[in-house]
Amino acid sequence: MTIAEYITNLSDNPYFGAGFGLFSLGASAAVLRKGLQYATIYLRRQYMITLEVPCRDKSYQWLLQWMTNKGAKETQHLSVETSFEQRDTGHVKTKYDFIPSVGTHFFRYGRTWIKVERTREQHTLDLHMGTPWETVTLTALGRDKAIYFDILEEARQMALRQHEGKTIMYTALGSEWRPFGHPKRRRPLNSVILDEGISNRILQDCRDFISNPLWYTQRGIPYRRGYLLYGPPGCGKSSYITALAGELEFGICVLNLSERGLSDDRLNHLLAVAPQQSIILLEDVDAAFVSREDTVHQKAAYEGLNRVTFSGLLNCLDGVASTEARIVFMTTNYLERLDPALIRPGRVDLKEYIGWCSKYQIEQMFLRFYDGEKARTAAKEFANKVVAFGKNVSPAQIQGFFMFYKQANCEEVLNNADMIWKL
Ligand code: ADP
Repeated sequence: MTIAEYITNLSDNPYFGAGFGLFSLGASAAVLRKGLQYATIYLRRQYMITLEVPCRDKSYQWLLQWMTNKGAKETQHLSVETSFEQRDTGHVKTKYDFIPSVGTHFFRYGRTWIKVERTREQHTLDLHMGTPWETVTLTALGRDKAIYFDILEEARQMALRQHEGKTIMYTALGSEWRPFGHPKRRRPLNSVILDEGISNRILQDCRDFISNPLWYTQRGIPYRRGYLLYGPPGCGKSSYITALAGELEFGICVLNLSERGLSDDRLNHLLAVAPQQSIILLEDVDAAFVSREDTVHQKAAYEGLNRVTFSGLLNCLDGVASTEARIVFMTTNYLERLDPALIRPGRVDLKEYIGWCSKYQIEQMFLRFYDGEKARTAAKEFANKVVAFGKNVSPAQIQGFFMFYKQANCEEVLNNADMIWKL
């Protein structure tokens, strides 16, 4: 039998024919699959745009919120973020924010359909937050990257609108700043009553500083300004800084220098990466250090603790170099306990004493709590009466007294003025 005859015989064999048919079917399916794979890769490369946003990126939370507001509401797969918001009345409101859950979602932006994939890696942790590492990937048809700029910008604007009229407080978490609690409604600056002229002096100084970056760069001076508010407790140092931040539309980054685990390096890093438009507040700076001359105490205070050293703080303050206006506020109840090196010009450019109530302050506080024609004369009388006692009184004490007598009339308040020290 010749080879040709053998092949003809073989092809006539029904078993062989079926096997061959199956083989060619399988082969063409494999070719088709490969072809499809290449076509998808080609399509992805040429006609799709992808944006990957990792959870450490600033726009991550904005983007999730924005997607929820935009279209993800229609998706049936959500995850919840529960938050509590305390109203000014003290009432606590619970808020549920739904954000797209881990998985794939689709939403429409303008005329484009966008695929959203939120992935969570169980084996990788965001070390600072202790949460699993997450990424959101957006994929859209087309080649125009502008769509992502638009989306990110819209998300940013939306986040900003939510914080309008509010002051954001940040706290240090690891090597980052994280918003702490809910943004607070701005406290009006004139609700913190300091002695005549002090508030304006500080506000004016800050405004001049913020509006004059060129002055600093032209002279090669780091663009930062330090303030120190000192005086007895309860006289409004912290309240004033919070209100000032609101007035300037800045956030506040609160740092506790006596915190364990806050090393010089971490402090340096935190000061360098503080959010834009924020005041850095170092409260009770005296508590973190003992004067350098007081070496015995100092040694005891630092032994075995991973804490900021005094020279470390000085270096950090000097090194805060930023193109952004960097405002550092420090507060202390005891000016005399501070090392002169800390409060020399360049580190502290403006010092203000925020002290016990003056007659002016008592009168102004009275007028904030009681109004009407009668209140005006009563305010003067009240202030005279309190001053006549010859005792120091803090605005916090006066506030407590007025709150106790908030339903009372002016006469009652006047008659009970001595209760200020008894409540
Ligand atoms: P400090 O930081 O000087 O210890 P705080 O700012 O914490 O004082 O003030 C404590 C409380 O007293 C706050 O509730 C604040 O409203 C009130 N208070 C203190 N000083 C003033 C002030 N000058 N004007 C209005 N309220 C004040």
